[in-house]
Amino acid sequence: MSLPPTLAQIASCVSGYDPNALPVDKAQQFIARLVPRVTAVESVALRASLGRVLARDIVSAIDVPAHDNSAMDGFALRGSDLAADGDTLLAIAGTGLAGQAFAGTVPAGHCLRIMTGAVMPAGLDTVVPQEFVARTPAAQMGNRSPSLLPHQVGEGHVVIPHGVVRTGNNRRLAGEDLAKGACALRAGRILRPADLGLLASLGQAEVPVLRKLRVAFFSTGDELRSIGEPLDTGCVYDSNRYTIWAMLQRLGCDVLDLGVVRDEPAALRAAFSEAAASADAVITSGGVSVGEADHTKQIMAELGDVLFWRIAMRPGRPMAIGRIANGGNAAILFGLPGNPVAVMVTFYAFVRDALLAMSGASPAPLPLLRAACVAPLRKRPGRTEYQRGIVSRAPGGGWQVAITGSQGSGILSSMSAANGMVVLHHAQGDVSVGDEVDVIPFDGLI
Ligand code: AMP
Ligand code: MG
Repeated sequence: MSLPPTLAQIASCVSGYDPNALPVDKAQQFIARLVPRVTAVESVALRASLGRVLARDIVSAIDVPAHDNSAMDGFALRGSDLAADGDTLLAIAGTGLAGQAFAGTVPAGHCLRIMTGAVMPAGLDTVVPQEFVARTPAAQMGNRSPSLLPHQVGEGHVVIPHGVVRTGNNRRLAGEDLAKGACALRAGRILRPADLGLLASLGQAEVPVLRKLRVAFFSTGDELRSIGEPLDTGCVYDSNRYTIWAMLQRLGCDVLDLGVVRDEPAALRAAFSEAAASADAVITSGGVSVGEADHTKQIMAELGDVLFWRIAMRPGRPMAIGRIANGGNAAILFGLPGNPVAVMVTFYAFVRDALLAMSGASPAPLPLLRAACVAPLRKRPGRTEYQRGIVSRAPGGGWQVAITGSQGSGILSSMSAANGMVVLHHAQGDVSVGDEVDVIPFDGLI
């Protein structure tokens, strides 16, 4: 990954940049300019490509489907044989199965019994589904169609009622899914189940993807205990280790978990150095607040080119951002606040998009839901607030949202109870009952 400009150069490009009261969108703009992208490509087996970032455009080498074929089980015919008014009587010339095309020709006045996916013989352009027709075995034909020769009544006849089918119906055209030479998938796409199927339909066994992003992370704070340890007085279990790990898993990163790092310069230096030596990004939690007693900020500043921000948002005001290098490697540093809700909110507000961009992905913006508030909300203009909400169907249609009790940044249960995050934008003020607000649904995000 090539190094982007210096932090000062980036800051000068972001209008309204103020590290002590930074609007969320300015912080996002800064980060978007800061982060480099992975470029190394590897080839993986089709199944292993799920969730990976496609490295190159995939151009279809074949038409999919390769031939015109039937979309229904029924009878293939010439549209020009359909009677202008009244029923149409056609003799059945044979059968075409999927994977076993009819080898003969189908003369005028004839049709072909055909199954879904079977190749359409030359000249036939229409399929009438079998449930619309009456089929008459040869033996019962009697003198209804005296013009037919004996070999033509071998498979019987069909009577197609007037109006049940029009020329061109139920025929799939060659290349209608993917035309030869067309771009099937664009580079930068995060591959989803349908994409794996699409690649399989092209016969593609191996897929070029970008290498996974390597993300190292650790928690800082002397009050933290790891699960399995006794909880001493005044201590809390390190929950951020698990939320951060889980959020990184969902993004498909290679994760280097460095656990809890003690508030000692040597331990912090060792952890930052190890992370910076191999990772593309380093995420820490805790120790970046103003007046913080521990050494985290000091060691970040010593080892890297790091800015300490106060963001106009709630929760999640303090955050460190920058670059730390070790050996030949440079990593982007995200120093998140320690409070468990603030960690998750800053991750989704800043880190998620940054890591996706670093992974080489070009994802669409997250869809926002508009939901009516069931209770009034206090909101001070001049900062972005992320409140935890429960979205449900409103009795009269549309969506409604209720806030999950206390919104303190240490109340992780509010995050767990929520199914979405209400975004109260920077300039927005108080919200009245019934007002619509933006909500980021957690489905697909968390
Ligand atoms: P800090 O940002 O270091 O001032 O921490 C703010 C609050 O978050 C403090 O109450 C910490 O105990 C708590 N906290 C920090 N790190 C973690 C963690 N890894 N897990 C749970 N709580 C944490
Ligand atoms: Mg702390």
